[in-house]
Amino acid sequence: EIRLSDALDRVKPSATIAVTTKANELKREGHDVIGLGAGEPDFDTPDNIKEAAIKAIRDGKTKYTPADGMPELKEAICAKFSRENGLTYKPGQIHIAPGGKPVIYNAFLATLNPGDEVIIPAPYWVSYPDMVLLASGEPVAVQCGPDVNYKLTPEALEAAITPKTKWLLLNSPSNPTGAAYTKAELRALADVLLRHPHVWILTDDMYEHLVYDGFEYWTIAQVEPGLYDRTLTVNGVSKAYAMTGWRIGYAGGPEKLIGAMRKVISQTTSNPCSISQWASVEALNGPQDFLPERRAVYQQRRDMVVEGLNDTPGLTCPTPEGAFYVYPSCAGVIGKTSPSGKVIENDEVFAAELLEQEKVAVVFGAAFGLAPAFRVSYATSTEALQEALKRIHRFCSNLS
Ligand code: PLP
Repeated sequence: EIRLSDALDRVKPSATIAVTTKANELKREGHDVIGLGAGEPDFDTPDNIKEAAIKAIRDGKTKYTPADGMPELKEAICAKFSRENGLTYKPGQIHIAPGGKPVIYNAFLATLNPGDEVIIPAPYWVSYPDMVLLASGEPVAVQCGPDVNYKLTPEALEAAITPKTKWLLLNSPSNPTGAAYTKAELRALADVLLRHPHVWILTDDMYEHLVYDGFEYWTIAQVEPGLYDRTLTVNGVSKAYAMTGWRIGYAGGPEKLIGAMRKVISQTTSNPCSISQWASVEALNGPQDFLPERRAVYQQRRDMVVEGLNDTPGLTCPTPEGAFYVYPSCAGVIGKTSPSGKVIENDEVFAAELLEQEKVAVVFGAAFGLAPAFRVSYATSTEALQEALKRIHRFCSNLS
C-alpha cells in the first residue's frame, strides 16, 4: 500500500465540497434536496464574456501563455485595480492563477517556513488554515463572534501578533459570514499593522462587488498606502462575474513576492487556461452594468433569508454587509431533541439532521472555526430559498 505524505496528514477535505457532494448524492437518489451549501452564483456568466471566449478559440488563442498570466489580462487587472481600488500596480506586480484559491496557496508556498504564523480571523473560509498547513505554516485562528459582528478588532489583532507572525489574512466581505470592513475599521487595523512592520497582509477581496445597502467598499492598501509594500491584494472573476468554472484569480503585490509566486506557478500548474484569460479580459474591460442588477437581487434575497431565520425558534441571524452568505447562530437549539430521537449536540449534528429530515443542505459552523452556527448560501432562486426557510422553520419548531 502506498504511504501518503505527512503533509497530507495535516489537512482535512473541504467541508463545503463534502456537503455539496452529499446533497448531490441525495438528489440523484430522487430526494427533493435544496442545496444552500455551495459558494457560487446561480446566475450565468454574461454573454459578452462567453462570446470573448468563443472568439479566442476561433482565433487560435489556444496555446500556452506566460506562466503567471498573459500581458493583455495583466493590463486589464492593473486598470481594474486603478479604477476600482485606487491602487497602482505594474503588470510585473500581477500574478494570475487558475482561481483565487491557487493564488492564495501560491503566496503561502512562496513565503511560509516551518513555524511561520498566519493570523486568520474566525469564522474563516474553510481552505485558509489547511492551505497554510500544507505550506508548512501555522494557522492562528482568532475568534471573532457575533458580539464583534464577526470582525477582527484592533485589540484582538494586537494580541495575536507574535515575532513569528508572517501574514494577517483579511477577507472582506467574508465567506462565511458576509461581514465587510468599513474604511474606519480597516483604518484601525492598519494602525496596529503600522506598528508591526514584519507582518504582511493578504487581503482576499473576492466578494468586493457583492455589497449591499450602499456599502462603500475599501481594501486595506488603499486605506493605508504605508502598507502597500507588504500587502497582497487578491481578487478574481469567480464570484462577481459568475465565472467559478473558468478558474481565473489574480493578485497585485510587491514585485519580489510576485516573482517568488511566479517561480511556484512555473513549476506547478503553469498558466491558467488561455481561453479563460481572454474571457476575463472581457469581464474586466467590458460592460459592468449587470453588477448592480445582480446586487439588487442578492440584497432582496439576503433580507428575506435574514428575516426568515430570525423568525425561526432557536436561531439568530445578523444582517451582513455583503457576499451571498449569512451565518446564523444555532445556540438556541443545541441540547434539544429531534422527533427522530437524535440530540442536537452541536452544529454538525444540526446540519446533518436538517439534511436528513428536511433535505436542506447547509454547512455547519465548526468547519469555519466558529460554533455553534451554520452557513447559508443565498445564491439560489427565491422560490428555493422560500421553501428552504419553511423547512428550516419546521425543523426547528419540531425540536423539543
Ligand atoms: N476566497 C474566498 C473567500 C472564497 O469564498 C473563494 C471561493 O469559494 C475563493 C477565495 C476561491 O475562489 P476561486 O473559485 O476563484 O478559486
